[in-house]
Amino acid sequence: MNEISNIKAFGVIGDPIAQSLSPDIHNFWIKKSNISAYYNKFHLQTKCATEDIKALQRFDVQGLNVTMPYKEYAIKAAVNVSETAEKIGVANTLKSTPSGWYADNTDAVGFLNALLSCLENKDLTGKAILLIGAGGAARAVAYILSKQNVDLTIVNRTVSKADDLITELAPTAKSNSLSDLTNDMDAADIVVNATSLKAGLVDSIEFPDGNGRLFFDLSYGKAPEEILRKASQSGWQTEDGLRMLVEQAALSHELWHGETPDVEAAYQMCQEKIR
Ligand code: NAP
Repeated sequence: MNEISNIKAFGVIGDPIAQSLSPDIHNFWIKKSNISAYYNKFHLQTKCATEDIKALQRFDVQGLNVTMPYKEYAIKAAVNVSETAEKIGVANTLKSTPSGWYADNTDAVGFLNALLSCLENKDLTGKAILLIGAGGAARAVAYILSKQNVDLTIVNRTVSKADDLITELAPTAKSNSLSDLTNDMDAADIVVNATSLKAGLVDSIEFPDGNGRLFFDLSYGKAPEEILRKASQSGWQTEDGLRMLVEQAALSHELWHGETPDVEAAYQMCQEKIR
C-alpha cells in the first residue's frame, strides 16, 4: 500500500475534457507497473491559461497532458521546450523539472508509430501521402512525415493554411484545395485525414477505388464512423485515431516514468471501452 503523501499527481487539462480517455490509459499503465502515482482529468476554463498552467506545477503536479484549446499555452508556460514542440508550435506533454515545466509534443511520433503499425512494409521512403487538413493535428503529422522522405501533398479547405504549414514545416510538400480530392486520393499510396470532420465534409467526399490502400483518420470513437464506412466500402484499409492516442500517451508515460508501457494492452482496453 502506498502512503498517500508519496502518490505523485499527473493529469490532463482541456476544455472540454469529460470524454478524455487519457486517465483510463495512464492509470491502466500506472497500476500495471505498480507506480505510486495517480492521473486525473482537470477541466480548465480560463482566460489566463499560461499562468494557470504554470501554477499547476507549484501545486506539485509532476506531469500533464494538454489538449484543446491549451496546447499553444503549454509552450508559453514552459521554461524548456523540445525541438519537436518548438517546431510544431504546440505541446501536448509537460514534465515538471526543478526550474519549471519542460514541454514536448508526442502527437508527431505517436502518429508515426500508429501509422507504421498499420503497414506491412514499414519503410515510408518515396510513398505518396495525401494529408487532408492543416490545423493543429495536421501540423504534427506534416512535421514528422516531412522527415521520412515521403512525397507529401497537403490539401485543405483554406489553401493558404496548407501553404503556411508547408513553408514552416514541410518545405518539399505540395498543396491543393479540396476541389480535386478524389484525384488526389487516387494518386496517393496513403491518405491521412486530419480534419475535424464537420457536417457536410464527409458527404462531399467521393472515394476512388482503394485497392487495399490505407485511409487513416485521426479522429476516433463515433466521429469517424461514417467516413471510415465509406472508405471501407470503396476498398480502403481503414484505421481511426485510437492507436495514435495510445501511442502518444505511451511517449508521455516514458518521459514521466522512464519505462515503455504496454501499448497493445492499453489499445485493447480502450477499444473495449468505447466500442
Ligand atoms: P483544428 O486545428 O480545428 O483543424 C481542423 C481542420 O479541419 C482544418 O484543416 C479545417 O480546415 C478542417 N475543417 C473543419 N471543418 C471543415 C469543413 N466543414 N470542411 C472542410 N474542412 C474542414 O483541429 P485539430 O486539432 O487539428 O484536430 C483535427 C482532428 O484530429 C480532430 O478530429 C481531432 O479529434 C483529431 N486528433 C486526434 C488525435 C489523436 O491522438 N488521435 C490528436 C489530435 C487531434 P480550415 O483550415 O479550412 O478551417
